[in-house]
Amino acid sequence: MKVSAVLIFVFTSVLLLSCNDNTISSDSSISSSPKKSIQTTEYAMVIHGGAGTILRENMDKETENAYNEILTRVLVEGEQMLKNGISSEEVVVKTIMKMEDSPLFNAGKGAVFTSEETNELDASIMRGSDQQAGAVSGITTIKNPITAALAVLNKSEHVLLSGNGADKFAAENGCEVVEPSYFHTERRRNSLDRIKAKEDLGTLESSNLDYKYGTVGCVVLDKKGNIVAGTSTGGMTNKKYNRIGDSPVIGAGTYADNSTCGVSSTGHGEYFIRYAVAHDIAARMEYKGLGVTRAAKEVVMDKLVEKGGSGGVVALSKTGEIAMIFNTPGMYRGYVKPGELVVKIYED
Ligand code: ASP
Repeated sequence: MKVSAVLIFVFTSVLLLSCNDNTISSDSSISSSPKKSIQTTEYAMVIHGGAGTILRENMDKETENAYNEILTRVLVEGEQMLKNGISSEEVVVKTIMKMEDSPLFNAGKGAVFTSEETNELDASIMRGSDQQAGAVSGITTIKNPITAALAVLNKSEHVLLSGNGADKFAAENGCEVVEPSYFHTERRRNSLDRIKAKEDLGTLESSNLDYKYGTVGCVVLDKKGNIVAGTSTGGMTNKKYNRIGDSPVIGAGTYADNSTCGVSSTGHGEYFIRYAVAHDIAARMEYKGLGVTRAAKEVVMDKLVEKGGSGGVVALSKTGEIAMIFNTPGMYRGYVKPGELVVKIYED
């Protein structure tokens, strides 16, 4: 009698515990089957504006306010769209367009210069519902590269288009065209001049790569449970030979899967490509049953640090759990979910 009572107790406890694991995935949770977990928030949205050596002591108040203002504004406007039932795809694209239009970020208008004093832009977008993706690299005449990536997703049978062909395809599919000089800003030209001067003197160290960050990214979970992730960048200052970073590479700079999470990366792209960072986070959730924060920490704070890759990610799980993880001194970032809006620049 006593033995069966104990058995019933153990069986019930195991049942309850496993149900709980499958329902909510939190920072350190390990659930046996993330596929069964449910959306715990009506909607959620997370953004980044690049990671790097962003230190309070090097930032003047005016610039800091300008970053806080735009990060807050795009989150407030994004939340309004989500409340109105707008899809995650539209929210991601509209949000990234606003960040591309700002000279503050290394994307669209504020893109960095290549070594030839041109601007070559990369962007990608992925839909978690059907895992369709679109990306462009090395474009020079499309005002909002994320719209070109969206056109590839929705209007072509391809995933990644590059160079003149990508510009042509985007123009033919209604994306706004600008002169290449639209992307010239004094701030980014000065960065190029500084880096070239160091290069000429032979004093350019890998730590100087931090100056080159500023990519933008956005991941959204809408009311229907659809996750979409997008990323847009000018790449790295002084890049040569049509170098392509991780931002337009699905699985490295951007990834989305409704059964796990969406991810947008920023940082030293070569490392994010080699270690398939965005996909690795989703894979750890799927194969190891990790929550998104834990999965992102393992990849960004353990694996990337060990390999020497600097940068960060923003990620969002299908339950609405948000992760903003970076191994650099700062990352422009923020998120919004019902009743909660957070914007941050430096480490906590
Ligand atoms: N990941 C981008 C690249 O390597 C740069 C960045 O995120 O700032 O092109």
